[in-house]
Amino acid sequence: MSSTGTELELVLATANPDKAAEIRAILADAGIAVVDRPEGVPEVEETGGTLLDNARLKAVALREATGRSSVADDTGLEVVALGGAPGVYSARYAGPGASYAENVTKLLLELRTSGSRRARFVAVAFVSFRDGSELWTRGVVDGEIAEQPRGSGGFGYDPVFVPNEGGGRTFAEMAETEKHAFSHRGQAFRALAALLRTPSI
Ligand code: IMP
Repeated sequence: MSSTGTELELVLATANPDKAAEIRAILADAGIAVVDRPEGVPEVEETGGTLLDNARLKAVALREATGRSSVADDTGLEVVALGGAPGVYSARYAGPGASYAENVTKLLLELRTSGSRRARFVAVAFVSFRDGSELWTRGVVDGEIAEQPRGSGGFGYDPVFVPNEGGGRTFAEMAETEKHAFSHRGQAFRALAALLRTPSI
């Protein structure tokens, strides 16, 4: 399944256009082509107990539906004072179908009396190859939850996540390329790209 000397093309499992755009940009920088999730492929329920379980569920389901090597990711925001919540429940923190704004509002409410605002984003990038073998990587970025949302870029919890190395700005106050340079997803997918380009894989 080596990608050396051959063009590797991965079908992208995520149906989230914000994440798809980021993953496409990061992998394109590494010379790996991504094909959109075909229309009509049903969404996978994220029933796993960990980010790795959910990333695997999504990648394997898409590989089984398309017969092609597929790539998925799963991301969680882990807040220290909330015992690691929302974690695997980040997308539905404020309830099923919650909007980004509703999730952020709930997070700020939960933290209003907390002394610590330390948090981290964790992303797992997962490839399920055509032959059933698999490969995954993880990316982590440490930071803090801001008191109020700031900035108009990014998506999800970006307006309230202040990475330690960002000079006090939220992810939403950064250009997309700057966010990718040290974000959880940037790290996970660059590591994945490096492995995919390693001859022994
Ligand atoms: P998912 O399960 O990987 O789709 O991600 C769960 C939720 O985490 C998403 O619905 C977003 O609210 C949030 N999220 C994922 N990645 C990011 C990011 O890079 N910045 C901010 N929020 C994110």
